[in-house]
Parts: sequence; C-alpha cells; structure tokens
Amino acid sequence: MQVRTVLILDGILTIVLGPLFFFFGRNILQFLGSPAGDDALVLMRLYGGMLVMNGIFFLGSANTTDNAVRKSFLYGSLVVDGISACVLAYAAYTGVFNGWGYGGAAVFATVWLLFLFALLRLDELKVFTIIASEDDILAAVNQARTKKMQVRVRGSAHSVDKAIFTDKFKTWLKAGNEMNLYMSDYDEIVAVDPKTRRVEVQAGCHLGADPFDPAQKAIWERSLLYKLDAMGWALPDLGGITHQTVAGFLMTGSSGGSVKYSIDDAIYAFRFIDGNGEIQTASRDRNIDLFNAVGVSMGLLGVISTVTFQCVPKYDIVGQEATTYDTGAAIDLFGKGDKARPSLQKFMTDTEYMRMMWWPQKGVRKAVVWQARRMTRSDYNKETNPPNGPGKNPFKPKPYLELGENTLLAEIGASLFYTLIGNLSKLGALGRFLNKHLSWILTKVLNLFVVNDADAKPPGPQKFWDHYYNSLPMDNQMRDNLMPTEFTELWIPIEKTEAVMNALLQHYEKNGLSATGTYACEIYAAKRSRFWLSPAYNQNVVRIDVFWFARNAGNPAKTFYPQFWKLLKPFGFRPHWGKFLPPADSDTGREYMRQQYPRWDDFVKLRRKHDPQNLFLTRYWRDYFA
Ligand SMILES: Cc1cc2nc3c(=O)[nH]c(=O)nc-3n(C[C@H](O)[C@H](O)[C@H](O)COP(=O)(O)OP(=O)(O)OC[C@H]3O[C@@H](n4cnc5c(N)ncnc54)[C@H](O)[C@@H]3O)c2cc1C
Repeated sequence: MQVRTVLILDGILTIVLGPLFFFFGRNILQFLGSPAGDDALVLMRLYGGMLVMNGIFFLGSANTTDNAVRKSFLYGSLVVDGISACVLAYAAYTGVFNGWGYGGAAVFATVWLLFLFALLRLDELKVFTIIASEDDILAAVNQARTKKMQVRVRGSAHSVDKAIFTDKFKTWLKAGNEMNLYMSDYDEIVAVDPKTRRVEVQAGCHLGADPFDPAQKAIWERSLLYKLDAMGWALPDLGGITHQTVAGFLMTGSSGGSVKYSIDDAIYAFRFIDGNGEIQTASRDRNIDLFNAVGVSMGLLGVISTVTFQCVPKYDIVGQEATTYDTGAAIDLFGKGDKARPSLQKFMTDTEYMRMMWWPQKGVRKAVVWQARRMTRSDYNKETNPPNGPGKNPFKPKPYLELGENTLLAEIGASLFYTLIGNLSKLGALGRFLNKHLSWILTKVLNLFVVNDADAKPPGPQKFWDHYYNSLPMDNQMRDNLMPTEFTELWIPIEKTEAVMNALLQHYEKNGLSATGTYACEIYAAKRSRFWLSPAYNQNVVRIDVFWFARNAGNPAKTFYPQFWKLLKPFGFRPHWGKFLPPADSDTGREYMRQQYPRWDDFVKLRRKHDPQNLFLTRYWRDYFA
C-alpha cells in the first residue's frame, strides 16, 4: 500500500471519528461501559479535537512528496495510535471499559500496523544515496574516487539486480565502501526548445508512473510522458511498460516492438559524469563516438545526468489484438508467407507497432498478436471524436485491455495458479501427483484464459484506439507484485526470423514442457540502432523473449534458459542487457558476445578511459567488460 493511500485513509478515518468523539463522547463512553464522568468527557473531547486536527494534517500532507514531512506525520501517529490502543486495551482489561474496549484497541492497532508498514516502505530508501542535483552526482563520484568506492545507479530496478547494483548491495543494509545512487529528486525537465522540439530531462525522471518507486514520488503527473503530452509532444515509441526511468530504460538498450520507430532515434544528447569526476557531453553532432558508446552502456562510462530528446508531435494509436492457433494466424509464423498472409518477418517490417505472445505448450499452441499504428485523420469519427477535441468534444479513447475488465481478479487467479504449479516440488506427494498431470492441467487452464477470437464473446479480435502513452505500453496493466516475471531476451537479425521460429517450434515439439515452460514466449522486433552496444546495433532484429514466472522454484539461469542460449547460438544472438545473460565464461558468454558486436573493443577502450579506477565496474560487469 502506498504511503499516500495510508495518509488519505487515516485522514478520512480521523476526520469522521473526531467529531463523533467530540459531540457524542458521553454516549461513546457509556457504550464502552465507562461511568462517563466529567473528567472522562473532557478527555474524550480533547481527543476528538486532536483527531480532527490529525485528519486535516494527514489529508493536507497526502500529496506532498517530501518524505521528511510524510515521515514526521507517520511517526507522530504511530506513537499516538500505539498509546490509544494500549489505553483502550488496559481499560478493558481492568474492567473500566467493557469488551468493546478491546475492539477499539484492535482498530487502533490495525491503523498502527498500517503506519508501520508505510514507514518501512519509506525506509527502503535508506540504502540509497539520494540525488537531487548534478552537484550531488559530482559529489558522489568524487567521494567514490577518493575513497575507492564502487558506485552504481538504480533506475526503477526492472533489470536483473546484478546489472544494477554494487557487489554487496542489500535491500536492508548500506554497505560501507559502496554507493547506490537513486535519483528520486532529480526528475525535472531542465530545458525546452520549442523550435527544434527538444527537451533536456534529468536522468531520474520516469517515463510514466512507477507504482513501486520506493520514494513514492513517481506519479503520472511527474513523468516525462505527461509533461511532453502537455506540450503537445511525444516519444516515437515506448516499451511494453513505462515504469522505467529515462536513464534506466536507455542504458540497457530497451526498446518497443517496432522497426519503424525507436526511442534511440529520438535521443539527441547525453550529459554524464564520468569516473574521472568530469562532466561529459556528447550528441549526434558532437563527440559522436562517445555518444554512440554511452547510449547503451549500463552505467559503465559514468552516471547519466541528463538526456536530451528530439520529440515528435503527439499522436494516438489504433490497433487490435487477435488470438488464434499459431498455425491459423493471419501471419505465416513459420513460412515464407504469400500475398494473402505475410510472413512474420514481413509483418514485423510493415507494421508500425507489434508484439506477439506465443503460448507454445502442446494442446495450446496459440498466438496472441497485438498490432497498432498511428491514427491518421480518417481514423477519427463520431465514436472516437477528433484528436485534441475541444472541451465538450474530447478524444474518446477505447484503451487496450490486456486482462479484460476485471484485471485484479484475473491477476490474483493467475498469480495463485502459477505460484502453485511453479512450486510443486515442495508439496510432497500432492506435488508429485499434480506434477504427473501438469501438462493436462496447464492445457486446460491456458485454453480457458487464452481464448481464440472465434470462441470469444463477442467473437473477433479486440479493437482499441487510445493515446499512445496509454496503450503502447500494453503491459503496464500487469502488476509486478502479482505476476513478477523474469526473462532472457535474444535479439537476432530480422532476416533469420523464419529459421529461428522453426528452430523454436521443433525444440518445443521435441522437448515438451521442459522447453515450453508454463509461461509464454514473447516475439517482437526492434529497429536498428546507432549505439555500439545496442543489441540492435546496425541491424533490425527479431527478439525472442523467454518468460519465467519469478516465483517458480529454481533458478532459470541454470535450469531453463541455457537450452535457448544453446539453441539460438548459431543465429548470432545479442542478449538484452537488462535481462538474464549467458554466463561470461560460457560458450555464448563474453567471447561470443564480443564477436556479435563490431564496436565491442572500442567500447571497452572508452570505458577504461572514462572509468580508470573501475568505480562503476561491478564483479558482474567485469566478467564482460574489464
Ligand atoms: C515487466 C517488465 C517489462 C519490460 N518490458 C520491456 C520492453 O518492452 N522492452 C525492453 O526492451 N525491455 C523491457 N523490460 C526491461 C527493462 O526495460 C530494462 O530492464 C530497463 O533497463 C529497466 O529500466 P529501469 O529504469 O528499471 O532501470 P534499472 O533496471 O534500475 O537500471 C538499468 C541499468 O541502467 C543503469 N542506470 C540507471 N540509471 C542510470 C544513470 N542515471 N546513469 C547511469 N546508469 C544508470 C543501472 O545501473 C543499470 O545498469 C521490461 C522489464 C520488465 C520487468
């Protein structure tokens, strides 16, 4: 639960309870079995007044993003509610109050627990060095240089932990000779040029809202996309979610599913502090090699301070999601295609935005193909209203719904189901029994939820039209805490799509559940990038994104992903830097990767120049880039 929610809930509760205590103190005392003498009544009234004030402060502070203010209110209430609970329970125990005293104590104890929980969430920040200005970054890097400390930056922590944090990072303890920066107070737009449509934004700004921001500040209204939209501007493409920070997203080469548009094309410049404590600027026009190196660099060249984006005019999208058997899709997923049915490669090349979720399990074999394009004038009609329509006639979006109308219930159900089947090995005889029939159970359940369009009610694909920032990130609706997912994602030249799809299909058919797993495999594309370490460097790619439910027992890097690294090795893959990588010393590790990236050695040279003390080079990254 967000701190803001706790503050609002408690604000409402105390504003309602306060007047009751004040005006009906005698009745309440009688109800509690107390003799309700005058002294007790005065105390009740004082308490009621205090509750009202408490409520006003809470509601007033609910919208502040100043964590010191939030904390002082929470601590204050923790003390007051703790005392209230004890007094009520004691009064009931000694017979001054009847049994309802315990009931009251239970209410206060519950509220007390809520406060404690909210405070603990804010305390997650303790392990970070909070950044509020470029001077803070400089100070942190210089401190790291003089004290020989390791230093890393957290974005929204959607990558694997080792790709983000220092070697000894713990979520509850700050390691002495390490620094993990968090830019929760460094998220403003610092420059706008209306002529060129460029904005310079601080690196800690989130693309959209981040519901799991430990500082609990990353609301939609502070996000980059919100601010751009208010100026009539947009980014040309987005990933499947927009919780990431600007720098966190870019540093791993993240990208949406499009070979027509890419965020990389929208980056004009970077400003960063390197390991020598120097401010570096690089853009498409100046320090071009450095620009191409830093664009995807996992924080290994320095701490990104600002990014300048070249924006596009804002746009809406229109699209559909179709579910069919994989052999019956409107796209020829495994062949060369023809006029009536494009091959997957052609579909990816011609479609503005796309992604496919493949459920390859025997007895399921379904493809859920999501596609969209930018709306043009002829797409707007009475149902949609015009774009930027005036107040009484605004654009009427019909957003994409990933999980239907009742997302919470669907996700809780899916989460429980996956947690159960992912942990059968811990359930003894029952687990063994279920495991024996897992394939059958899975087929039944998946077919219940992944429904072919022909059997859907109403039949046919889901159609949607929406603001780009709302439906392009089609996975924003999935809650990370209910459906936590891990991935290995392999980017392969798009020309090899047909061969890759057939290799995967044969692998699934031959090896069954141990290859398909219980979850999906996402197939999408990315546009060629200029950044040396982008897995799409100089080539359009097809991306094979293998999902793993994070609450499954076992480590996918040992038990599940290696088969895909081996299978796809001949296709010359480049793995997504924010997801599971093949171990550096494996045959698809460092040397293999080095062969896939023509500018690998140039990057390593620049890394050594800009971080001679290896401040940013954790053990994890050293294995690849020392
Ligand atoms: C549910 C989910 C959906 C996803 N969807 C997509 C998708 O559609 N497409 C895609 O390509 N990827 C996707 N990803 C991967 C995700 O986009 C990447 O892992 C991305 O890097 C996460 O960004 P972040 O803000 O969480 O940064 P983090 O994961 O916190 O950090 C990423 C890297 O950037 C570095 N870093 C962060 N800030 C700075 C800074 N200021 N200076 C220097 N270095 C910095 C970190 O140290 C780390 O190395 C998804 C991941 C999840 C969990």
